[in-house]
Amino acid sequence: MAKDLSTQLWHGIPRTEIPWHPTINADKCIGCELCYVTCGREVFEFNAEKRKALVERPYNCMVGCSTCSMVCPTEAISFPGRELIWKTEREHKIFQEVRREAKIKREKDDIGQARAEAGQKLAAATTQMRLQIAGEFGEKQFLVQLWEFLEGRLFDIVNLRLEVPTVMGAKEKAPSFMQFDVVSTADEEVLGFLKELRELILKNGLVIAAEQKL
Ligand code: SF4
Ligand code: SF4
Repeated sequence: MAKDLSTQLWHGIPRTEIPWHPTINADKCIGCELCYVTCGREVFEFNAEKRKALVERPYNCMVGCSTCSMVCPTEAISFPGRELIWKTEREHKIFQEVRREAKIKREKDDIGQARAEAGQKLAAATTQMRLQIAGEFGEKQFLVQLWEFLEGRLFDIVNLRLEVPTVMGAKEKAPSFMQFDVVSTADEEVLGFLKELRELILKNGLVIAAEQKL
């Protein structure tokens, strides 16, 4: 169903009080349908039987636009002169309203820009890192230490995998391998947290075998 834009305001003025819209000279119209497909505001319909364009919703037309008349190959479309618009602007004193609209537009732009900047900052932040560490974990209660270390922070350790070569090896304190992902639970930069975590790992005599940003 075609949209009805005639109830909209043009800078505070009811659209139907501004007689700006196209008029078609049917004798000149060759039925090319260019105006019909060009107008994005559904001003035109097309009479397929008569092969003529019709102005069906004149007040859907954007005040000041004259694109359809520019593209019409036979100059069949006309508009009132620009004086009509200037006169409307003067008589309705629209510029106070225009300034208000401009302020709203600027505020929206500022919000959009702030969002974009926040998005870029987040994209640039390292919020996930994978760590691989090796060493002897047996008597160190390293997992308990990790758990205490995480308490009250906006970070977590997930996908934890501990590989012990053999049960006998563990008993004999052979080196084991641990892998986990450090993630921020609030999209925070993890690098500061990682610095402290590395200290904990090294304090336990373990070795960081690899670090990978995810
Ligand atoms: S662009 Fe001109 S000639 Fe083509 S259909 Fe519209 S009014 Fe007619
Ligand atoms: S002037 Fe613009 S908005 Fe108005 S009918 Fe033509 S193309 Fe549509």
